[in-house]
Amino acid sequence: MRILIVEDEPSLARQLRQTLEGAGYAVDSAEDGEEGQFLGETESYDAVILDLGLPEVDGLTVLDRWRKAGHKMPVLVLTARDSWSDKVAGLDAGADDYLAKPFQSEELIARLRALIRRASGNASSELVAGDVRLDSRSGRVTLAGEPVKLTAQEYKLLSYLMHHKGKVVSRTELIEHIYDQDFDRDSNTIEVFITRIRKKLGADLITTIRGLGYSLDG
Ligand code: CA
Repeated sequence: MRILIVEDEPSLARQLRQTLEGAGYAVDSAEDGEEGQFLGETESYDAVILDLGLPEVDGLTVLDRWRKAGHKMPVLVLTARDSWSDKVAGLDAGADDYLAKPFQSEELIARLRALIRRASGNASSELVAGDVRLDSRSGRVTLAGEPVKLTAQEYKLLSYLMHHKGKVVSRTELIEHIYDQDFDRDSNTIEVFITRIRKKLGADLITTIRGLGYSLDG
């Protein structure tokens, strides 16, 4: 899952990035509204964390432009403490959730997880496919009840496929959603990760659909 952070306060932006990367997300960041708007329009994100007070273009305007242009990714707005008018304006402009500063990183992560889950149509934080279970809260994966150790990249890939169970996901889509902007994106590595996941969790879990991509069923 790939997240965009639009936040102009360097220390908070850094802290957010560390927290999200620690939780297994690929992260891009923008320091002003103009750059943030551009990234949101041109890259694929599973969720966006958007500060409202931003240089160049303010957060509400950015959000309003995204929505008018048809970009539907979940957006969590960061508001100043106790500013109810900010919250209302944010929700009206198309925000999916908000969090008032200062906040606990655990709460931010929990809200993001919920946003991503809802956007992909999953009600529970535990995703199931056959004998495989992935708990998006703890990051644990089990096969027939037994814990299975996955690397960070394997987990990201499996998590994306499990969030989109039953759909055909192209290699390009996978690359866009599991790597950040600066990552050296080599589409051959996807096949390597798929092979490793099959070895750990069973050959039948992920089906290769020739010329189209992959599909996880069950
Ligand atoms: Ca700000």
